[in-house]
Amino acid sequence: MKRGYIIELFSSFQGEGAYVGRRQIFVRFAGCPLSCFYCDTCYARDSQPEFCTVLGNTDFSRKKIIENPISSHLVMKFVEELHTPDVHSICYTGGEPLLSAEFVKEIAMKAKDMHFKNFIETSGCSAILFAPLAEYFDFASIDIKLRRHRAVEDYDRLYENELECVKISVDCGIETIVKVVVLKDTPAEEIEKICSDLSDFDIKFVLQPVTAPRHLPDVAPSAKELLTLSEVAGRFLHDVMVIPQVHKFMGIP
Ligand code: SF4
Repeated sequence: MKRGYIIELFSSFQGEGAYVGRRQIFVRFAGCPLSCFYCDTCYARDSQPEFCTVLGNTDFSRKKIIENPISSHLVMKFVEELHTPDVHSICYTGGEPLLSAEFVKEIAMKAKDMHFKNFIETSGCSAILFAPLAEYFDFASIDIKLRRHRAVEDYDRLYENELECVKISVDCGIETIVKVVVLKDTPAEEIEKICSDLSDFDIKFVLQPVTAPRHLPDVAPSAKELLTLSEVAGRFLHDVMVIPQVHKFMGIP
């Protein structure tokens, strides 16, 4: 049985993208190789945190602290405890779940056996790590980073991997959501290029206006910019949405 590093386990509403508002059980894996400047889960970038926090089902202030690394068996025990009739799926998130690919696979297999649907949120940083996982997932939300997110030094390699992950996901019949976080002054040409590269794939495409970090209050795009970027995307893709991070308004994790 595998053990791995999880930073948080909790049940909440999906706060981003095409499945916003769906109740999910979130498994937040530790570690991320990227460094997006707007990251709102910096606490999840440590790859070997000492503890995993399990939040109460309807009372987030109720917490259990579990020592890492945690076994897949114990993860499933908490998943069962957090399960409620409205749960849509288990959300494998991070950090970056691909860094824990073998551990993710074991949990996803157990979850399938228990008839859960599996939903992965990834930056698409490694197609090699994503490919063997694809058959266990029903939904994949794959980010495409912009150069100005300052996520990595080798942006072209990251972009290639992201596109390859989208291809693998669509080819495996996974319901695929591609999300791009957009900023003030995001060039329409950059969104045009991404959407053109995605135009052969049957995906849901989400433009997510950045939630401005406190130290950078002026980075969010205007409504006018979002309307323009949405129109550009719509020229190439049939299912385009503009959705901010809703969980921030709701004050939930
Ligand atoms: S990929 Fe996600 S977790 Fe990693 S730095 Fe970027 S926003 Fe943060």
